Amino acid sequence: MSSVNDFGAALMGGKVRTVDLTHPLDPDFPVIILPEQFGQCAPFKIEEVSRYDERGPAWYWRNFSCNEHTGTHFDAPVHWITGKDIPNSSVDTLAVDGFVRPACVLDFTREVAADPDFVLTADHIRDWEKKNGEIPHGWWVLLRTDWSKREWNDYLNLREDGAHSPGPDASAVRLMIERDAVGFGVETVGTDAGQAHGFEPQYPAHTLLHGAGKFGLQCLANLDQLPARGALIIAPPLKIKNGSGSPLRVLAMIDA
Ligand code: MN
Repeated sequence: MSSVNDFGAALMGGKVRTVDLTHPLDPDFPVIILPEQFGQCAPFKIEEVSRYDERGPAWYWRNFSCNEHTGTHFDAPVHWITGKDIPNSSVDTLAVDGFVRPACVLDFTREVAADPDFVLTADHIRDWEKKNGEIPHGWWVLLRTDWSKREWNDYLNLREDGAHSPGPDASAVRLMIERDAVGFGVETVGTDAGQAHGFEPQYPAHTLLHGAGKFGLQCLANLDQLPARGALIIAPPLKIKNGSGSPLRVLAMIDA
């Protein structure tokens, strides 16, 4: 008996489907914009080195550059000041077993369609748990909002007073930590709401989750294809030395 052999057999027997939760890395994909006094996140940049031409007659390759938090990306605990003293909290030193974990997908599409500033609270999560069962320890909590379906020019939803996008309050984040979630994943550009600078504490997802050693996933897509419970998420960030995060390919495996 081998669990891995059984899984491989199910996979090869067409009983498992793999869903891509990743946006293409593209120079046009929006990145978070901070107030102007702060350093800024670089968008994805690409430059051709050769393409079967005099620069390289038989080969095609390119140089790319970006921020560690560009595109669909992973946040390590060291990203936030609250996580800076946690041992092994950069992408190259995190325990790899956290990169393959099941997920609960909390669907708040309707609420977000009615209010882009929707704030997820602990009561919302407890209501979800009444219908779907308690969030098991060690799982991802993924917030489905269908935000990934927005046009890119509406993605940040910037107004004069900043970005308007959904996110959790401190009570929701504390409950995720109580459930020992491996991390929190969203379809928006940050795990915190667009207006979370005004929350108490400021940026509760970043502040509390990373302070508790938890991960973040941002700019996810195709969460609408996942069941409420049990999708297996494969999300290993690039092994960047001392990295605070990285763009990555996020896959979900579900029953076919
Ligand atoms: Mn990030």
